Amino acid sequence: MSVASPERSYGRAVDGLRPLAIEPGFVRTATGSALISMGETRVICTASAQESVPRWLMGSGRGWVTAEYGMLPASTGERKQRDVSKGRPDGRTVEIQRLIGRSLRGVVDFTALGERTIYVDCDVLQADGGTRCASITGGLVALRLACERLVRQGSLERSPLTGTVAAVSCGVVNGLPLLDLDYAEDSAAEVDANVVMTGDGGLVEVQATAERTPLSRTHLDDLLALAAQGIGALRVLQDEAVAAADS
Ligand code: UDP
Repeated sequence: MSVASPERSYGRAVDGLRPLAIEPGFVRTATGSALISMGETRVICTASAQESVPRWLMGSGRGWVTAEYGMLPASTGERKQRDVSKGRPDGRTVEIQRLIGRSLRGVVDFTALGERTIYVDCDVLQADGGTRCASITGGLVALRLACERLVRQGSLERSPLTGTVAAVSCGVVNGLPLLDLDYAEDSAAEVDANVVMTGDGGLVEVQATAERTPLSRTHLDDLLALAAQGIGALRVLQDEAVAAADS
């Protein structure tokens, strides 16, 4: 049974998600889009289709899905310098956008997509932990809406998506496994994990880092169970957001 934990934001139980909202169609100029809010973390996800593929796929009949991630300067307490001002993305940005791209590509049939590329852009409006996971969960909604639009306009016969994918963070804080860490919990965590799963329960990626004390096998199992439960709830909200989108 879930026990409410008064120290957690929103008075959540150890296995509670922050209040989640997904607004489909947030950016009208994109092929598909969604604004995802998980508590104070807010990310705009857009999916933009282009009728071209990277050079190494030309003539293959196959398409591609790639992702870019960025944090707006005011998304963090201390202003974050834009990559464009630094001249290059930092290591964290590169790691996160590759994770988002890999996670979304896992549910795409590239032959059904044909020779086109879908760019999924995830821009963090406000960061309070879990931005990479929110990007994957919201990015999938934007990607689904983009594929639906391509089918509606006759560019695709059927959606190239073979399933759904979502992600959630979890971790061990003061010896207690917790679901969906906010920044305060994330910065105090002994173990910090990001779990990506498909809608049918398949693990796509597990990133678990023991910052102070090593992660025990028992705690890893606890974290995966928390994540599976959280992702089940996220999947329902993804479906609702797609169903609520006006075509
Ligand atoms: N953060 C920040 N500035 C940065 C990177 C991270 O303020 O340059 C904060 C932000 O709140 C972020 C949190 O630290 O959500 C956790 O960052 P992490 O790298 O673990 O990624 P995330 O949990 O957002 O996927």
